[in-house]
Amino acid sequence: TPGLERALSLIADVPDFPEPGILFKDITPLLDDATALGSVVEALAAPGRDDAGRPVVDKVLGMESRGFILGAPVALALGVGFVPVRKAGKLPRPTYAVSYALEYGEATLEVHQDALQPGDRVLLVDDVLATGGTAKATVDLVGMCGGSVHAVAMLMELSFLPGRAALDGVPLTTLLSV
Ligand code: IMP
Repeated sequence: TPGLERALSLIADVPDFPEPGILFKDITPLLDDATALGSVVEALAAPGRDDAGRPVVDKVLGMESRGFILGAPVALALGVGFVPVRKAGKLPRPTYAVSYALEYGEATLEVHQDALQPGDRVLLVDDVLATGGTAKATVDLVGMCGGSVHAVAMLMELSFLPGRAALDGVPLTTLLSV
């Protein structure tokens, strides 16, 4: 739609951030525009609806940190709750944890053990799919909680990286492929 195209055109390219050679995609100009933010939230919520527009998921999970900004309004749009997936050591109650390899070193993501009911269907939301490591770790956390991933919705996909393959088979919707 024209509204969504305009929203995506607001994403800014910032060369050499946070390191030389990286072209950083800055979504803050999009967040700053209420109409743009609304169309992106509606587009990210779409994979969580059936053909009649009814919600088919029980929760939205967002990955720290930009997955929180986008995921919470997506949850409200669907009329379901929001669950934060956080970096290690941030959640106060018992958690499940998954560690995964980064380009250099390792990262750990956690979710509260009681965040889902057995059988819950969830929608994962984040801003950028790069290697897919973050998304795959979150898929694994959902399984540890006894839930299943209905779909993954991302603002952007870096198509020169194998993120889509890392999700082996989980339906993936991205609004922009760069
Ligand atoms: P992945 O685990 O390699 O797929 O990286 C995805 C995570 O890193 C997401 O949570 C993104 O927010 C972040 N990320 C990776 N590359 C970029 C980028 O070029 N711009 C903004 N965020 C990025």
